[in-house]
Amino acid sequence: MKAVVLQRVGDPSQLIHQEVPTPAVTPGHVLVRVHACGVGYRDVIDRRGDVPMIRTPIIPGHEFAGEVVAVGAGVARWVVGDRVLNLYTASCGHCEHCLGGDERRCRAGGEAFGLTADGGYAEYALAHERALERLLPEIPYDVAATLYSATGVGFNNTAHAARVEPGERVLVTGASGGVGSAALQTAKLLGAEVWAVTSSPAKADGLRALGADHVVVNGAGDFHKQVLAETGGQGVDAAIDCVGTPTLNGCLRSLRPYGRVVVVGNVDARRFELNLGYILVRGLSIIGSDNVTRAALRQVMALVRDGRIEPLIHARLPLAEAAEAHRLLEARGASGRVVLIP
Ligand SMILES: [Zn+2]
Repeated sequence: MKAVVLQRVGDPSQLIHQEVPTPAVTPGHVLVRVHACGVGYRDVIDRRGDVPMIRTPIIPGHEFAGEVVAVGAGVARWVVGDRVLNLYTASCGHCEHCLGGDERRCRAGGEAFGLTADGGYAEYALAHERALERLLPEIPYDVAATLYSATGVGFNNTAHAARVEPGERVLVTGASGGVGSAALQTAKLLGAEVWAVTSSPAKADGLRALGADHVVVNGAGDFHKQVLAETGGQGVDAAIDCVGTPTLNGCLRSLRPYGRVVVVGNVDARRFELNLGYILVRGLSIIGSDNVTRAALRQVMALVRDGRIEPLIHARLPLAEAAEAHRLLEARGASGRVVLIP
């Protein structure tokens, strides 16, 4: 099969489009013919080697969708022809986290696509049967390839980590990205007034079209000045920070007393310097939250099917252009997800 292999951590030139053996299906696993694979900033971070557990060479891609073409011994959940999308890892199904509905913290800590197991930058991917979710028939594969790590993360962390309430003021950073655009739309669905922060003036109109009530164009990190001015000095109730180190201080400074910020992503592996006095005298909460639970993934799929959340796809590129997709993301040139089509 054709695949893109990350030979070693480094720049995008390490992503080589090449012929590799098609994986053989193993017990408990299924072989998925990949129809689409999302490319997110996580892929860039992994490729640079900022996540130490990555093993190379590896096929990247932690967010793909496709069709089951072979089923291994003992697989009970899937038959050939099923349409599926992946979760980040296969959870055990019986530890306290899995039983509590939060497979993200599963104690089994299974293999992770694109990090310790080959992922979706390929014509075929081998997946544990519990690392997959059934794709609703109305959702096309390219859209499905944004549902887990982009749309699902934006939805889950706005609805369930930030617990946005009707009438609240909510700030979203990185609002034109795959995660941010979903967070923005979710906050609007929940009845919030939304400030969308972007570093690019060219993306402002698109953000308004997605429902942003206020757009803050600021690449410097002091966007809180405009947010405070537009809220009469009061600040927002919640911030969904999809960028991390470069924007967290601006988020904290945008919050009202007792406000909360949910850190959903981080594009910069450097340490963040925190002014603890500012946090404690204003009673602020910093909530870290990653990924999406299976239950929330099902919720967001239904919302996408019903047209209530529209995943943003910047471009659909052939598999051979994976390195180009990475360059586009690093140049902040994408509005929404880039999707590779094998
Ligand atoms: Zn578990």
